[in-house]
Amino acid sequence: LADFYISNFKKLPPFSETDSLFYKDLCDVFTSIEATTKRLEKLAILTEFFLRVLTTFPMDSETSQHIVVTALYLCINRIAPDYDGIELGIGESVLMKAVAEATGRTLAKIKADVAKVGDLGTVAQESRSTQGTLFKPKPLTILIVFKTLKEIAMMSGNSSMQRKVDKVKFLLVSCRDNEAKFLMRSLEGKLRIGLAERSVLVALAHASVLIRHKNLSKESLEEKLNQASESIKTAFSELPNYERIAPPLILHGYDALEHHCKLTPGIPVKPMLAHPTKSISEVLTRFDGITFTCEYKYDGERAQLHRLEDGSMRIYSRNSEDMTQKYPDIMGRIPSFTSESTSFVLDCEAVAWDKEERKIMPFQVLSTRKRKDVKEEDIKVQVVVFAFDLLYLNGQSLLRESFAERRAKMFSAFKEVEGVFTFAKSMVLTQVEEIQSFLDESIVDNCEGLMVKTLDGAESTYEPSKRSRNWLKVKKDYLAGIGDSLDLVVIGAYAGRGKRTGVYGGYLLACYDPDNDEYQSICKIGTGFSEQALESQYEQLKPHIISAPKPYYKYDHDSTKPDVWFEPSLVWEVKAADLSISPIYKAAYGRVDPSKGISLRFPRFIRLRDDKSPEQATACSQVAEFYNQQAVINQQTSKSAGAC
Ligand code: ATP
Repeated sequence: LADFYISNFKKLPPFSETDSLFYKDLCDVFTSIEATTKRLEKLAILTEFFLRVLTTFPMDSETSQHIVVTALYLCINRIAPDYDGIELGIGESVLMKAVAEATGRTLAKIKADVAKVGDLGTVAQESRSTQGTLFKPKPLTILIVFKTLKEIAMMSGNSSMQRKVDKVKFLLVSCRDNEAKFLMRSLEGKLRIGLAERSVLVALAHASVLIRHKNLSKESLEEKLNQASESIKTAFSELPNYERIAPPLILHGYDALEHHCKLTPGIPVKPMLAHPTKSISEVLTRFDGITFTCEYKYDGERAQLHRLEDGSMRIYSRNSEDMTQKYPDIMGRIPSFTSESTSFVLDCEAVAWDKEERKIMPFQVLSTRKRKDVKEEDIKVQVVVFAFDLLYLNGQSLLRESFAERRAKMFSAFKEVEGVFTFAKSMVLTQVEEIQSFLDESIVDNCEGLMVKTLDGAESTYEPSKRSRNWLKVKKDYLAGIGDSLDLVVIGAYAGRGKRTGVYGGYLLACYDPDNDEYQSICKIGTGFSEQALESQYEQLKPHIISAPKPYYKYDHDSTKPDVWFEPSLVWEVKAADLSISPIYKAAYGRVDPSKGISLRFPRFIRLRDDKSPEQATACSQVAEFYNQQAVINQQTSKSAGAC
């Protein structure tokens, strides 16, 4: 990219200055990004955009920083940090009503067009362009659009539907050209220009380098661009908040991020993730010569416990969702296992606990707890917190310390209280037999298996948001199937027949491709469901029915077309016998076979993953990795069978 930037970004025209940026300028950028499938091209277009923004507006003013942050949010189609829980994603019916009212067309016509075109955004744009207007409305700015989107998302209560329609209409009547299309898509919750959040961050980081360093050689520029990309990704995984990251980046450059953007209690860190393994010998090969520790892998819900400097406390899910309301019992007991003055961020698993038997209960018991408006007196399922990592203590981030050091600090700052708070059971083991018996023991104790983690040195720091090879998971049923379950998005359903009349008889599932922002079909599933589950799925999926498949669904029209389509909402954990190359399913297409995808054989429903958003479903790269791993193992098996 350095070469490209040097040759093309010498003198970029500033935007026509207003006190904000015109929404049209941003929509033109979206149009250019949508027109290419090349990731680097998308990145370059967005870098150019941010560079022009930085050139147009003096960056030391608050308004200008607000403009950059707003543009960032609009690019990733969010209106607040993930953990604030403010979501866009207005129902299709509300939006169709608004388009009809704003353009003077009938609702029936809008519906028919959407069924034909498949994209309400395009229908809105076309409906606007054929509409005669008496006067030219004032152009929209990004600040007005963003403010209104936020207002719409915050509306609730009885008359909120009509108030939302009115706000959408207010924006729609001012839309020109492509603005209506992107506005609608934003409101629907998906921009669909194939832009990953990472690229948006990297583009801003690149722009911050280019505005500072105008005459660097290609090599020096390349080096700075790489450093800037890494710095912003690290900063964001530790402090996932644009308001906190963009201003220091713009004002001081990427090298100041480490100083300004530190993990802060009250802002959830993106959790470190583990790599699946299929055997203990695979673990030993990976950790040859490295000190590691084995821990029980508890089967509950990840819980990041925060105590802020002011003493207030919060709990966040794996998905950075605020779960403080869900666990008033944990909140009330935090003081019993730590001293009052301690500020901290603890990585834990909340697990259902049988008080009488004094043992862990399976995940299914935990999942019966209410998620919202939980009153402590109504709680029937007791929960124990199993702490496995300490990320912050008394004003200090511990992320860059070794696991051994973090754990030592955890052991001394907290104390175990039976039935309330316990450290994850762990052992330093080196032999296959010892690990196997610890694994067996974990299963007897109602756990899922083991987590094996590096203990010392630079390889054992906490790596936020990374699926790291320094954490390996060994699940109890690793020998059967494909080593790990997959978390898949329900994108469609088939009408039930016979005993299943009145509910769905099967579903079409998809994995996610973050690079192209698309859902790729991976299998049909119809087994593993109780009658009761089928009924509740029918109800759960009802609000997510859409009239046509999303353009970002990749599926085979002839052989897998479902009877009903859903917007991406539910994530299901699924196990399968194995993976196979498929001419029909589209998962990871082009990654293993140039023209075919991958599908699951004998998929079985395990559970709903309501702690994962659709974009956190199993990525197509992981599907390809599972397939390749399986191929290696099959080869080894057939070789050893040949040797016999
Ligand atoms: P992933 O998050 O890796 O996609 P997942 O959410 O489906 O997968 P698992 O495959 O079950 O989760 O494995 C990781 C999860 O295990 C962690 O997110 C955490 O909630 C849980 N866990 C239980 N015990 C531990 C432990 N000792 N150390 C780390 N994580 C643990």
